[in-house]
Amino acid sequence: MDIPKLVQEQKHFFKSQQTKNLDFRISLLKKLLVAVQEKEQDIISALHKDFKKSEYESVMTETSIVISELKSSIKNLRSWAKPKRVFPALLNFPSSSKIYKEPYGAVLVISPWNYPYQLALVPLIGAIAAGNTVVLKPSELTPHTSKITKEIIEAVFASQLVAVVEGGVEVSTALLEERWDYIFFTGSVQVGKIIAKAAAKHLTPITLELGGKNPCIIDDTAAIALAAKRIVWGKCINAGQTCIAPDYLIIHKKVKDEFVRCFQEEVTKAYGLNPQESKDYPRIVNEKNFDRLANMLSNEKILVGGNTDKETLYIAPTLIDNPSMDSEVMKGEIFGPISPVLTYKDEAELEALILRYEKPLALYVFTKRTAFAKQIIRNFSFGGGTINDTTVHFANSRLPFGGVGESGIGNYHGKRTFDLFSHHKGMVHRYNWLDVPVRYAPYKGKVALL
Ligand code: NAD
Repeated sequence: MDIPKLVQEQKHFFKSQQTKNLDFRISLLKKLLVAVQEKEQDIISALHKDFKKSEYESVMTETSIVISELKSSIKNLRSWAKPKRVFPALLNFPSSSKIYKEPYGAVLVISPWNYPYQLALVPLIGAIAAGNTVVLKPSELTPHTSKITKEIIEAVFASQLVAVVEGGVEVSTALLEERWDYIFFTGSVQVGKIIAKAAAKHLTPITLELGGKNPCIIDDTAAIALAAKRIVWGKCINAGQTCIAPDYLIIHKKVKDEFVRCFQEEVTKAYGLNPQESKDYPRIVNEKNFDRLANMLSNEKILVGGNTDKETLYIAPTLIDNPSMDSEVMKGEIFGPISPVLTYKDEAELEALILRYEKPLALYVFTKRTAFAKQIIRNFSFGGGTINDTTVHFANSRLPFGGVGESGIGNYHGKRTFDLFSHHKGMVHRYNWLDVPVRYAPYKGKVALL
């Protein structure tokens, strides 16, 4: 793949102004919708080959999200793209003011492996809707999904408009050597910093959707059985390989034992006595991540689960009792089905625990005390979250989705994705029928008029 040539061709095509035409963009999105609907079963089987993701999870967390993003973009594009009139400044009288949304140009999207279809396609759809050309670099760790994604894109778009470039770090590095008009990256904090550095060379605007250590607080008023059910769901979906999965649990001392019992019951209800036999429980993506996770279990006191099988990359839904702050599991983002259980007795302890880490992508609080939940929202900085549930804030496309501090820069979903890939150009149209003389020199005696 000749990357410099591909980028030049896309830039050349962008200059032709064709992508500025809304009918053109809508027809492309419609074609893409037909293609993704036709290939839905192939995507589901690719996800299963990559890490044994069940059909239900694949539809719920991947294909349905892409389809609904496409339908919403097709339906709303004309209104999103319409220049927005705003109230003019009095100083400019007579005039009108409008905000125009213009595409940046050549966009690079780099996506991760954990939701390999949805996290590649949703930004791509937004970038096309906004009138950009796109190069997508999907993850090399989910090759079946990357392959089918490439096939779909190549069937719909000429490469001068949208192209998929497969490969690992070397390909990513080569892509980052080019001059882009926008870079959208989803992945780890460590690689996010590499992206930011590369973008700085040309002051290229970026969005970084990263990760972090997401706290999950359960206070002594929480509905414990329901909390356990919702935490098992949010933690076990994708086998915990979710950027917004609850990472560590901070449970009020009084309700810890009850929570652990309920957690075990909910795991059994969802995946049976042996989750390894459940068709609904995914696997760890590769041996490297399996080893990293399995290592977190050694020398720890296991409260629930703890079983592993390297051959099938299986790790059971697991609770670890009160690990030391220096342990592997408390060092960085876990990104697997393991939850450390920490306890607190008062709010000072809770605060000290949460503030040990960088600002997380998500935070969850289970409580019946609304005032306590509001205090958590006010006191801590984090990307977004849910009260009395986990991960479901992702599902509302009217909410901004993104991190803060080390968990990311910028946010997207729904109309925000279109806005993110558009430069907002502020324009004043002055009229000539009146020219108020106040602002022109000489200024003597005019200060009082300001
Ligand atoms: P990763 O950072 O290892 O890889 C992401 C992408 O970057 C891949 O396409 C990869 O090929 C590329 N890449 C890897 N090393 C690179 C390098 N040195 N230079 C340039 N490109 C490089 O992340 P991952 O393991 O695929 O995904 C897991 C991480 O992503 C977790 O930290 C998770 O929290 C985060 N994540 C965030 C979100 C979000 O929306 N905020 C969503 C999913 C995952």
